[in-house]
Amino acid sequence: MQALKIGIIDLVCKSPSKSLWGKIMHANLASIMPQVIATWCEQEGHTVTMICYTGNEDLIRELPNDVDLVFISSFTQAALLAYAVSNYFRSHGVITVLGGPHARCYPDDATQYFDYVLGFTNRQIIAELLNNCTRQRPIGKKMCAGKQPAILCSIQERWKFIEATLKKAPFLKMVPILGSVGCPYTCPFCIDSTVTYRALDFQTISSDLKFLLTKYKRPWIGWHDPNFGIRFDETMQAIASAAPPKSFHFIAESSLSVLTDDHLKKLKGNGFTALLPGVESWYDLGNKSRSSHITGAEKVKQISDHINNVFHYVPYVQTNFVLGLDSDAGAEPFELTKRFIDNSPSAFPGFSLLTAFGEAAPLNLEYQKAGRVLPFPFHFLNNHLAMNVKPKNYDWVDFYDKVIDLTEYAFSPKAIYRRLMHTRGFNPKWMNVMRAISSEGWGRLKFYRQIRQNLIQDRSFRQYFEGESQQLPEFYKNIIEKDLGGWWKWLPAGALSHNAYAYLQKTS
Ligand code: SF4
Repeated sequence: MQALKIGIIDLVCKSPSKSLWGKIMHANLASIMPQVIATWCEQEGHTVTMICYTGNEDLIRELPNDVDLVFISSFTQAALLAYAVSNYFRSHGVITVLGGPHARCYPDDATQYFDYVLGFTNRQIIAELLNNCTRQRPIGKKMCAGKQPAILCSIQERWKFIEATLKKAPFLKMVPILGSVGCPYTCPFCIDSTVTYRALDFQTISSDLKFLLTKYKRPWIGWHDPNFGIRFDETMQAIASAAPPKSFHFIAESSLSVLTDDHLKKLKGNGFTALLPGVESWYDLGNKSRSSHITGAEKVKQISDHINNVFHYVPYVQTNFVLGLDSDAGAEPFELTKRFIDNSPSAFPGFSLLTAFGEAAPLNLEYQKAGRVLPFPFHFLNNHLAMNVKPKNYDWVDFYDKVIDLTEYAFSPKAIYRRLMHTRGFNPKWMNVMRAISSEGWGRLKFYRQIRQNLIQDRSFRQYFEGESQQLPEFYKNIIEKDLGGWWKWLPAGALSHNAYAYLQKTS
């Protein structure tokens, strides 16, 4: 077998970026799977150069001139950058491979721009690909293992890639770890709802944690589990067997149903510093929050009490909401979220606009059947720059009025001040303020106001939102061109548009 020179690019962000937030945080958002694939490629006897792209790197200069194969991992919001990078390398004779969430959500679109598009990937798929990799053009080849791998590389095995990535993070250095894949819950909007839950090896978790203590004094560790703590006792046991209590700082995304008093005590004892539970809506999607039987104001009270209780144990909590769900109508859902912000002033509210990512979730098929999915370019599909599902119960201007009103409320000087006063610890305090006044809070507000103005003043803009025109408004094209910078010229013809109904067409 010929040894290949392989480049692996983990696209953490979607365009070149010089932002302060990016410099501090992007390297902490690195994905696990590109590191695993880099390790597998080396174990198969190939030479690997891996780059976690945080917005500052020169991808062309940092990869070897004579690279044979380039893997790119991308979320959908970075897909256009991924397509442009792939086009550059393909035009220089390199074979390209796409993996990551975009490859799972939009595989058929991606095969136009890559030689290989990977769904669930295990070591066997990688070995097969490396042994037979040839150009696949004009349409790339899809490869999929059918399910998540049962075994991934340990942190020790992928340490050289983790270390190189975290060197880019000046202050906080967060090591990504995985304790499980899939989820036992079936929230129909979620990409993990159809992936069978499986805990990974607890022995490996324990030895990885011990290993990290040889690298950092009290390491920061981010659990990438879709729903952390399902096998709660065994996971806590794995942590406890690695080191005495409070030897680590942990961050995890958990459903509220996991966050019982008993569990919270153990989480506190084991050094859990931040939790990100999903509330999603006051009327729907509650099958994971221990409140599926109640809705509206009653649910606000119960969830708010629950979140306030979480703060007795953990200093940082972000609560996630989805705006524009079919179960929502009128002003009430937005007003209830404001009441929640009043009642739980310490919690950082994370808002997402309803988005259907291709074939990610079963619910997307329903939106496509109803003709409600809009073809916004991938660049805007990050849960806030565009909502690609027409709302069921709102007119667009009315919807944006309510989103703007809620965002103003959540990130008003008064709310920021209350959050600051109610939060314990320096790190949670500066994190909350920074997020509120950066692109996440005030930046989004400015963008939403611009969208509302365009909806009122520009007829063709409105027609695009109504699904009456497929002509992409210049407003969006200009943003992509500006964001991609030097990569714009490599964006393949046709990449700005995609078939928003591909999932329905292939399943019907
Ligand atoms: S609980 Fe969370 S991870 Fe699980 S299906 Fe629901 S949204 Fe997805």
